[in-house]
Amino acid sequence: MDIKDIFEPELAGRVRTDLDMSLYTSFKTGGKADFAVFPESPEELQSFIEAFHKNGIDFITLGNCTNVLVSDEGIRGAVLFTSGLKGLSLEDNIITAMSGSLMSETASFAARHSLSGMEALNGIPGSVGGGVYMNAGAYDGEVKNILVSVDTIDRQGNLKSYAAEETSLSYRHSIFSENGETIIKARFALSEGEEKEIRSRMSDYNARRREKQPLEYPSAGSTFKRPEGYYAGALIEQSGLKGASIGGAMVSEKHCGFIINKGSATSADVKNLIEHVRETVYQHFGVMLEPEIKMIGRI
Ligand SMILES: Cc1cc2nc3c(=O)[nH]c(=O)nc-3n(C[C@H](O)[C@H](O)[C@H](O)COP(=O)(O)OP(=O)(O)OC[C@H]3O[C@@H](n4cnc5c(N)ncnc54)[C@H](O)[C@@H]3O)c2cc1C
Repeated sequence: MDIKDIFEPELAGRVRTDLDMSLYTSFKTGGKADFAVFPESPEELQSFIEAFHKNGIDFITLGNCTNVLVSDEGIRGAVLFTSGLKGLSLEDNIITAMSGSLMSETASFAARHSLSGMEALNGIPGSVGGGVYMNAGAYDGEVKNILVSVDTIDRQGNLKSYAAEETSLSYRHSIFSENGETIIKARFALSEGEEKEIRSRMSDYNARRREKQPLEYPSAGSTFKRPEGYYAGALIEQSGLKGASIGGAMVSEKHCGFIINKGSATSADVKNLIEHVRETVYQHFGVMLEPEIKMIGRI
């Protein structure tokens, strides 16, 4: 049976089979997903999830793929991409953002409306859905500081709504990594400010990123979570791992907290280097680093 046959005809056009994930991931690695779906409205999203549930198909929801390491063996089942779920609106200093909108688009929208609170999130290259799921943060900002509420859909296709305090946001964690629900949209409360000052803060943060981070190479940002009382990058550097490499994966010389793809890395190279870094840092400092990036597929 052709997988497209399980969907209503109007959805079948949004289905792609054997999707090469390396074209989508910020690491530029990863094998093929059996199939991927690209809904363009919350209704289509719900129909896809209902069809997955009815047919016993496993799926994972992905945004801009900037925090994932996808197995070279690919992903069995479906990938549900939110990239077609875009849209931003404003009411009483609260921005409602569809999950596929980029964090940077949302921060620019806020600046255009002289609203402050998203400046530090502007340089995070992910989507709103990925940002809420990860409680993304940078410098002195994190999603938790501005989140009002989140609308989701559970794995049976039921619509749900959460107030911010029900989402268990903590350092790079949310309730959605436990319940597997798909984020449809989020609301952020911002405060009034001066557009010029907001934009100047955004440029300042971006300049700091360009100066400190190896943005010229594919990566997924910080590879590891910050261990309590330490900085992962400093531990890695002090363990003598600056520039350490396996295959095409390398510990960045510019920022040891980043593993980069020098051009020909496979996900296995990245995974093996992650393990090498963890073991070496543990031997030196007795600290076991936890990956921040999500390993997906047949890893
Ligand atoms: C150069 C670079 C710099 C970075 N800097 C930062 C930084 O400063 N701070 C920071 O926190 N992160 C940073 N990151 C990591 C990454 O951008 C963030 O974690 C971002 O929030 C991930 O969003 P995404 O849309 O790319 O998520 P994806 O990578 O697509 O997915 C990440 C996780 O979120 C889940 N997910 C995504 N969308 C949804 C949804 N709609 N519903 C339910 N689950 C969903 C996925 O299943 C997956 O488990 C950086 C990455 C890069 C490449």
